Amino acid sequence: MGGVDLSLAGEPPALQFCMSSIAENLDRVRDQIATAAMKSGRSADEIELVAISKTHPVENVREAIEAGQTLFGESRVQEARAKIPELPSNIRWHFVGHLQKNKVRPALPLFEMIHSVDSVALAHDINRIAEEEGLYPRVLLEVNVAGEGSKFGFAPGQLRDQMESLLALPRLSIEGLMCIPPVAEESEDSRKFFVEVRGLRDSLEKEFTLKLPQLSMGMTQDFSIGIEEGATLVRVGTAIFGERKLRKGHL
Ligand SMILES: *Cc1c(COP(=O)(O)O)cnc(C)c1O
Repeated sequence: MGGVDLSLAGEPPALQFCMSSIAENLDRVRDQIATAAMKSGRSADEIELVAISKTHPVENVREAIEAGQTLFGESRVQEARAKIPELPSNIRWHFVGHLQKNKVRPALPLFEMIHSVDSVALAHDINRIAEEEGLYPRVLLEVNVAGEGSKFGFAPGQLRDQMESLLALPRLSIEGLMCIPPVAEESEDSRKFFVEVRGLRDSLEKEFTLKLPQLSMGMTQDFSIGIEEGATLVRVGTAIFGERKLRKGHL
């Protein structure tokens, strides 16, 4: 026989190229981060890519690790608890989902940062459990920037009043703000919300004489806009790992 296997000969050639690998996706996202940084006169080093691996199996995370990605984000404690021990221990994990009270204790040792502290009550729980566990968790405050009933987070107009009691929690290292703008057709639609969150951060820094260096702003749809408006952390899932199968309680 000695021939070439022609079993794919009937397939359109594009098929072999349209499913890009996780490594290629990561390259592209990193390029887009660099471009957005340059466009806004920032250094790409100021921006960390959090690869959101929720719903994706550990094999896919491994592929991303092999392509040099070391920081990942998950939005469910249960899922993270199963995945994280399967992966190298030098990989860093951020929590980005709504944290339920009864999941605070298992979450704290798994994640180096919680992006999604969304109420004073949750902040108190984290503070208490962190004290019991001897930890000082790094956290961001989630701002419900468009006042959506379906979303968790502090109302922008109320955060100033709640800041005093948040700052009184000695175990919390509050490093900045996070937001998830409303789902929109155009990525540009997110810009005004990112601008508002940055402005809120600036005024909190002034009023309380503190530093809130981190802004977690931007997902697959709008991370370039987030970077143009000052994001230091972008949370990108789909552009790296592909579409997620819909699952209840997930974005
Ligand atoms: C799922 C999720 C992301 C990633 O969303 P993509 O659109 O897939 O990039 C980012 N942030 C949070 C809070 C999420 O839950």
